[in-house]
Order: sequence, then structure tokens, then C-alpha cells
Amino acid sequence: MITQLKEETITCPFCWELIEILVDPTESQTYTEDCSVCCHPILIRCEVDLHQINLVVTQEDLGF
Ligand SMILES: [Zn+2]
Repeated sequence: MITQLKEETITCPFCWELIEILVDPTESQTYTEDCSVCCHPILIRCEVDLHQINLVVTQEDLGF
């Protein structure tokens, strides 16, 4: 089965640019992804609630 990744837009907590990420809409997850603009590590928490995706982002050093 192929997981349909969903494109979401977040604001980088370092450079405040809007960047697009791909998230797995089937389960909640926390992971780190480098910003495509400034290359800093962004900690991303993706909470999946039925058909709604709630994204929380912060600087990796700070944590949640
Ligand atoms: Zn950035």
C-alpha cells in the first residue's frame, strides 16, 4: 500500500520563511527536518486527528 503524503506549509521558526513539507496523514509523528531555505533543523510535530492535520513547529534546540 502506498501512503499518500500530504503537502503542508509551515513557517520556519528560524528564518520565518514559508516552506512546504510532506507529511504522512495516516499517523501522528514527531520528526526533524532541515529548513529548505536556511538549513536549520526544525522540530515538527504532526498531529493527525481524523481528517485534520495539526502541525506544530519549533527550533530543535528548544524542543516542545
Ligand atoms: Zn529557515
